[in-house]
Amino acid sequence: MHVPFLDLKAQYKSIQPQIDAAIAGVLAETAFIAGKYAETFEKNFAKWVGTKHCIGVANGTDAIEMVLKAMGVGPGDEVIVPAHTWISTAEAVTAIGGRVVFVDTHPLYYTMDPSKIEARITKRTKVIVPVHLYGMPADMDGVLAVAKKHGLKVLEDCAQAHGATYKGRKIGTFGDAASFSFYPGKNLGAYGDAGGITTNDDGVAEMCRMIGNHGQMKKHAHKIEGRNSRLDGLQGAILDVKLKHIDLWNEQRRGAAATYGRYLKQAGIAAPAVPDYAQHVYHLFVIQVADRDSVMKKLHDAGIESAVHYPSALHLLEAYQYLGHKEGDFPVAAAACKRIVSLPMFPELTEEMIQYTVEKLAQSV
Ligand SMILES: *Cc1c(COP(=O)(O)O)cnc(C)c1O
Repeated sequence: MHVPFLDLKAQYKSIQPQIDAAIAGVLAETAFIAGKYAETFEKNFAKWVGTKHCIGVANGTDAIEMVLKAMGVGPGDEVIVPAHTWISTAEAVTAIGGRVVFVDTHPLYYTMDPSKIEARITKRTKVIVPVHLYGMPADMDGVLAVAKKHGLKVLEDCAQAHGATYKGRKIGTFGDAASFSFYPGKNLGAYGDAGGITTNDDGVAEMCRMIGNHGQMKKHAHKIEGRNSRLDGLQGAILDVKLKHIDLWNEQRRGAAATYGRYLKQAGIAAPAVPDYAQHVYHLFVIQVADRDSVMKKLHDAGIESAVHYPSALHLLEAYQYLGHKEGDFPVAAAACKRIVSLPMFPELTEEMIQYTVEKLAQSV
């Protein structure tokens, strides 16, 4: 049996007529950049998340940069990000001249540990960026309490968690603003690069809109120097079709996770822990094993694709050597990155594939 890590073709086939019609519509109207299709998706996505605004942008990394900029982060300002995340979260800080400050993560949930934030705050701290990693909401009460106490803004990085809920409410509605990625492999994925910003703050929304469109509010009235980061019509139209299916797909991911849970339990392997406050959307299904390389090789030999998200905590990457951190500065993140492995996870994953994966996994650990 072959078990792919994810299967975008299966998903396309299941909605092909709707997608093809949406693409044809954009071509017929040549609404290529921003325009009607992008705007419709922005409205529908804001409504689905539960915020006043959604601003479509070119990708999820831009979304983080633009929000930080709109929040007034500039040279020398510090932004607190988890030591365990995709590099975009940190990269975006540096890109706008800010300083990256890492914080350690929770040993079971992999998200920012609120009890470790305060020690990392200085006079220059401006924003905290919790990441809802793997589809698991971060502990938002904890993060928001620290932010409030110190007068800091909160940007939620929702790139991996479209539709996840924290205490019954969708993530992307808790911070001052939130960033989303619609990279094709994400839970809500475009057919190219795309991203979005959600917020209830009119000022942040207007500033982000302006930054992404060369600083214009009206054509040729450039209030500031901005940049080019807009959602294109094709991606908007595709995303709007897929938005109608995301709740079902997330439900199917949760179903697959539950099935994994049953088989893993029989095999005596721990499934990802989920706290009471969270409804996980399983962008990734991550377990821990002792001898990861050999486990992955055995899975590969059995036709099962697996991956690692991510093999190194950010503070140990060459890119962040300049910060001078040691492994033990963020020990939880550093330790987790040595043991984690992501198993196949996508809405169309079958019970047969899961059973086979766990069977081979049990023989490998
Ligand atoms: C994917 C991702 C991003 C960036 O998204 P792009 O659209 O690829 O730029 C940011 N943060 C996290 C946690 C991600 O997984």
